[in-house]
Amino acid sequence: MPNQENLTITKIPRNNVVIHFCSSPDNGERVNAQIVETKNKLVIVDTLLLRPYAKEFRQYADSLGKPIDRVFITHAHPDHWFGSEFFQDIDCYALPQTIEEMKVMAPIALGFHRGMEGDLVTDQPYFPGQTVGPGDIVIDSVTFRLHEILSAEDLFMLAIDLPDEKTLIAQDLVYNKVHLFVGQRSQEGTFCFDGWISALNKFDKVGYEVVLPGHGAPTDASIFQENIRNIEIMRDIVASSTGENFVQNTLDAFPGYGLRSMVEMSAFFLFPSK
Ligand SMILES: [Zn+2]
Repeated sequence: MPNQENLTITKIPRNNVVIHFCSSPDNGERVNAQIVETKNKLVIVDTLLLRPYAKEFRQYADSLGKPIDRVFITHAHPDHWFGSEFFQDIDCYALPQTIEEMKVMAPIALGFHRGMEGDLVTDQPYFPGQTVGPGDIVIDSVTFRLHEILSAEDLFMLAIDLPDEKTLIAQDLVYNKVHLFVGQRSQEGTFCFDGWISALNKFDKVGYEVVLPGHGAPTDASIFQENIRNIEIMRDIVASSTGENFVQNTLDAFPGYGLRSMVEMSAFFLFPSK
């Protein structure tokens, strides 16, 4: 097993799988990627943002000594797929709308992130070559239930449910004690809040024991209502703030939450004149 220089890895044993929950440091937006280890295979969910962390993630996966069956990319925000350059030899799957959104957004996202982090960010975005839709897929006798979520934290998102494990790989449907990114607008130009809340209410009814967020530590189903409360607070802050005080108002409302850069990124999209 290679030494983990940067990633924090938590092993989560469930009934028929072990999930390796891999978290990057703050300058990598504390984004998580997951490895679902079945009896004979590995399934990867998302590929992180910065090159050194994505490379370390791939090395860790290889150290487990099982073939990687596929990579799922959950949504088009760059922190979840810019690391895919280290998985170009593996079949990579996403919703067709996500691949379209990635291709439209890639030049802007590359400019934005390379402007801040330089060569730590890929210069050759690698797009998924395979599409998936909602429904069940069985990989090495484990059911992966794919859910399509519309107009939430991103326009199109995949959440991956392991029904026999009572586990949801929610990725950015939930954040745990990390500031929410609320800068996404729907295609009609409306805010993300309503669609996001209705998706959370739907998943809250399923009865998961383990919920794995896109940012922040592994958690349980209590995170759904906690996120709904936080989204409602953010909706009020967005309505009552200006470009000048949005960041401070948000930091004041969530003491102890991580990743100020997420608040700044929301501000960049919500108050574009700033
Ligand atoms: Zn994210």
